[in-house]
Amino acid sequence: MSRTGIEPPRLGEPWLLTPGPLSTAYEVKVAMLRDWGSWDDDFRAMTYELRTRLVRMLGDGHEAYTCVPMQGSGSFAVESMLGTLVPRGGRALVLANGAYGKRAAETLRIMGRSHVVLDKGDFLPPRGYEVARMLADDPAITHVLVVHCETSSGVLNPLEEIADAVAHAGCRLLIDAMSSFGAIPIPPRRIAFDALVSSANKCIEGVPGFGFLLVRQDALLRCEGNAHSLSLDAYAQWATLEKTGQWRFTPPTHAVAAFLEALRLHEAEGGVEGRGARYRANRDALVSGMRGLGFETLLDTRWLSPIITTFFCPADPHFVFDRFYALMKRRGFIIYPGKLTEVDSFRLGCIGQVDVPVMNRLLEAVVDTLHDLGVRNPAPPAAAITKRALLDETEVAA
Ligand SMILES: *Cc1c(COP(=O)(O)O)cnc(C)c1O
Repeated sequence: MSRTGIEPPRLGEPWLLTPGPLSTAYEVKVAMLRDWGSWDDDFRAMTYELRTRLVRMLGDGHEAYTCVPMQGSGSFAVESMLGTLVPRGGRALVLANGAYGKRAAETLRIMGRSHVVLDKGDFLPPRGYEVARMLADDPAITHVLVVHCETSSGVLNPLEEIADAVAHAGCRLLIDAMSSFGAIPIPPRRIAFDALVSSANKCIEGVPGFGFLLVRQDALLRCEGNAHSLSLDAYAQWATLEKTGQWRFTPPTHAVAAFLEALRLHEAEGGVEGRGARYRANRDALVSGMRGLGFETLLDTRWLSPIITTFFCPADPHFVFDRFYALMKRRGFIIYPGKLTEVDSFRLGCIGQVDVPVMNRLLEAVVDTLHDLGVRNPAPPAAAITKRALLDETEVAA
């Protein structure tokens, strides 16, 4: 049983080295083995505990914020945040460097909110000076959306310099902290933001079913009637929660019960600090092990998040991703395909119920799988290295 010395999956269950859903603790699964009435006092108390624990996780300055849970996957919560916080007469700047930034822009397009996109391509980080320049050139912009960890490449975007640029221009910051909240601190005292979103099945290590907004109370109070959608109206959800203690529509009761257990384990691990330390140790073991085998990361060490890492596929023609995937799965590891448009890559996650011993077993599985495939040297093609050189250029530009 766990509690949680990090247990190997049993009964043929593989480890999920993915950005979520991810491997969860035994206690989290067991918490779902009963039913709850959503109107009942017991469940209302669970919702209250969930909301207060999440707000407190922000640390110093959390008193200004409230928590609005929202049914659905993480994208539903992003849509809820954008539709509720960006007023119909507002204009948003979306900082995109991967799939999730693009999805946020698409969301604004569909809901008919005025917006502009700074698109940095597959992985280059948006920089504070670029944001400052765009806000100076376009004074109609009211809100800026940044993806903290862009999970499609694993790049950790420079949140603090971006937040400074946004605050300096008198604009409002919205953060997609889906894959960072709970493992990387986002202290409101240092980072001025109106709202962030995350979901149950990322760094808190719950099961899928809902996301949540942490939003400044004073900002939310101005948002009545903004939303483009009945069910994704975060203001209305908040008003109902405050008045009745209940979610507006059927809540994912079992996912909430599992999440509370996940929150207790998160606290027992030392909160954001402890969770982040385990993920960083995972990342360090993974990256140094893979580099030792001859693999290369997409990103320079400085931009690597402790959440997920992108590796280039080897140039060797014996390397076929689908076969690599299938053989890794047979050895007990579910990995993730890459999302780069120009060179082939794959991703390995560092989050969920995995630790350094699991990472070491993963590395052994990679060695055995390369042997099965007949790949002697996993070095990437030259084009991959050219791609990475782009990063150095942004460093010079900064
Ligand atoms: C996971 C994730 C989302 C939400 O994805 P869903 O599939 O809707 O849960 C959004 N943004 C980022 C950065 C993510 O990692």
